[in-house]
Amino acid sequence: MKYVSTRGNAPSLDFEGVTLAGLASDGGLYVPEAWPRFSEAEIAAMAGLSYVELAVKVMLPFVTPSLTEDELRALCTRAYGRFAHQAVTPLAQFDQQHWLLELFHGPTLAFKDVALQLLGRLFEHFLAKREDHLTIVGATSGDTGSAAIDAVAGRERVDIFMLHPDGRVSDVQRRQMTTVLAPNVHNIAIDGSFDDAQAMVKRMFVDSHMTGRFRISAVNSINWARLMAQVVYYFAAALQLGAPQRKVAFSVPTGNFGDVFAGYVAAQMGLPIERLIVATNVNDILHRALSTGDYSAGTVTPTAAPSMDIQVSSNFERLLFDVGGRDGKALAEQMAGFESTKAMQLTNAQREGAAALFTSARADANDMVQAMAWAHEKCGQVIDPHTAIGLHAARAAEIDPAIPVVTLATAHPAKFRDAVERATGTRPTLPGRMGDLFERAEQYERLPGDYDAVRDFIEAHATPSA
Ligand SMILES: *Cc1c(COP(=O)(O)O)cnc(C)c1O
Repeated sequence: MKYVSTRGNAPSLDFEGVTLAGLASDGGLYVPEAWPRFSEAEIAAMAGLSYVELAVKVMLPFVTPSLTEDELRALCTRAYGRFAHQAVTPLAQFDQQHWLLELFHGPTLAFKDVALQLLGRLFEHFLAKREDHLTIVGATSGDTGSAAIDAVAGRERVDIFMLHPDGRVSDVQRRQMTTVLAPNVHNIAIDGSFDDAQAMVKRMFVDSHMTGRFRISAVNSINWARLMAQVVYYFAAALQLGAPQRKVAFSVPTGNFGDVFAGYVAAQMGLPIERLIVATNVNDILHRALSTGDYSAGTVTPTAAPSMDIQVSSNFERLLFDVGGRDGKALAEQMAGFESTKAMQLTNAQREGAAALFTSARADANDMVQAMAWAHEKCGQVIDPHTAIGLHAARAAEIDPAIPVVTLATAHPAKFRDAVERATGTRPTLPGRMGDLFERAEQYERLPGDYDAVRDFIEAHATPSA
């Protein structure tokens, strides 16, 4: 498979190239040159496969020829062997129509593990082949940092430097990062906000002194390999609910549009998806874009679902490219306009293309609490605030009652136990595998909110590229 940039002005790369590159050199995002497509008979034959075997079937067209089938299987076996459930992403049921896809059985209790456990192993595989070294630099407000750290801890050829705003992440989130004591893991608590930390990371990516010495990479969901790994669980859930003979709808708590874009990819590959419901909190740029065509960023309002507190959804560009006729030059102009004014209008083709598959809904704090309470009282299911936003949107969408609707459970309720306790009166307990999280020793560096201090620290601890 070859990959092209959404802005039409970067070299096309193979899977290995896009995995290590992250962002394209023209500022665009990489997408496959064409969507691989399965026939109905091929999808029917996937029923009953183990998660690993299904992952190999779904991902093989995207990774060929960078990986052989056996190499892909070996990487998936190791990545998904770290999940606490045999089914990796099991389904649970709310009521006759509504289902819950549990994506939180990975090591750090959020769906990001599904992709990052594989990405960490892909990095190691490709870097060993090239005898090179990677320096991952990121800023996190919570879930991405812990999932990325767990995925690369102790791996050769990768160092990770993760910045978090001192005192502004939850105690569970901080401890999930700072109690990982591997020598290649460097946590840095910055005196400042998440935006300050993020600004320092962005500056480092264009600091030629640093990029000249180190191969610096990101692990956020602009990386194609992350989205690819997430396509698999849409197949897994739909097959269990009767696909390809029966259509299935999905409701997805959305921030950066990565997870729900993976659902779009599954549909392009032939999975019969009735609707993809984009669920947002009050930071509703995507709901406004999909319902009125107005994509304009406001200021971020903090909510009880912090991983969705986003105003600019990077992966939306991939959808606009695909439904807008794959015209990289036109999209580059449209995005340049957005970058200067923080606002743009979708074209008619983009609006109609998106409306064919996507619906959207917005949940405020009250909607979220009611969804958590309904799940708890009527269905005996304890769900986290992000998942509750998805469930609210799923129930509001008025999907034909004959069609199952699957809400993606993106985090374990114990990861946000204060908010869950406020809504349901029940305090979720951390799963056994997290049991001693509060006894483990922490190790992290405290640095002032000053770019030079952060750069000097990273330069002193990272390994130069080959
Ligand atoms: C990251 C995250 C999301 C948003 O996912 P996107 O791929 O950015 O849309 C939703 N819920 C949780 C718990 C997350 O960690």
